[in-house]
Amino acid sequence: MDEPDRSTIWPYDSSGEPGRFSYARYAHPTGATAEEALGKLEGGDALLYASGMAAATTALLALARPGATVALAAGAYYGTGVLLRRMAAWGLEVVEYDQSRPPPAHADLVWVEAPANPTLTLPDWKALRAHPAPVVCDATLATPVHLRALEEGADVVIHSATKFLTGHHNALLGATVTRDPALTARLLELRSATGGVASPDAAAALLRGLSTLEERMRRGGASASELARRLAAHPAVKRVRYPGFSAVISFDVADPRAVECATRLILNATSLGGVRSTMESRHRWEGDRIPQGLLRLSVGQEDVEDLWADLEQALARR
Ligand code: PLP
Repeated sequence: MDEPDRSTIWPYDSSGEPGRFSYARYAHPTGATAEEALGKLEGGDALLYASGMAAATTALLALARPGATVALAAGAYYGTGVLLRRMAAWGLEVVEYDQSRPPPAHADLVWVEAPANPTLTLPDWKALRAHPAPVVCDATLATPVHLRALEEGADVVIHSATKFLTGHHNALLGATVTRDPALTARLLELRSATGGVASPDAAAALLRGLSTLEERMRRGGASASELARRLAAHPAVKRVRYPGFSAVISFDVADPRAVECATRLILNATSLGGVRSTMESRHRWEGDRIPQGLLRLSVGQEDVEDLWADLEQALARR
């Protein structure tokens, strides 16, 4: 794999005109190569950002106007709700809705997550296609291996590429993907203006991660579906949520702190989508919007029997 190009400037041509790359805040070669690779997977034009939240902020600035009502999937990533509610000061109104049902008719922008983190619900695509508002779909947990959200009807796909796409807990990165050239141009203009561009090193980590994405999703998904089945039969587990694909499970126990602190192979850490399995009680971050006993498990590339042995001994501490 080539080293990332870390230059921040590229000289103008002999007549003094800027070429494709001039200043790294606008675009850089490593980012452009990674954007092309991700765009191909999603079937659209990708742009990379400094984080998933930088991608979300830019999409929001591109699609919402003061006074707009944003319908947000209930149980979606906590940080997205925080961002949208912070924007109340700019005249944005946020209404949460059950994404398995049609969005509120008066919404000016609909924001769904497929599947939602950590409640793992899925959007109703038919209802979204029938709604006149633009649709943003955060497909971080699905990845293009499991979902091509632009084909389903999303106007913008968002990723925290920090997670499965890069996949090695070593880069903070976000992405938008669209099929509308005018919208891509607007996102690019806003990314340049806000300075939320991805670093060349993070873009290089994405290129590396994408080269194994399908294999990682397949192995992690197979392990997750097996673990979800076994967890559902475990007497200490009250409820299991698993959408049937990808590698995130959430399940409820009586004492989530005791269980999360007892794993050895599974890291007691936040985030998800990496080669190492991670598990945490989400209540510490999200409070009572989610069940107090909910543990979110992101299944990595370890041997499934080793993961089960670790979970079983930890569940004995419940
Ligand atoms: N969207 C989802 C579904 C997430 O899980 C996260 C982070 O956990 C984000 C967006 C934000 O991404 P980042 O942490 O890369 O800013």
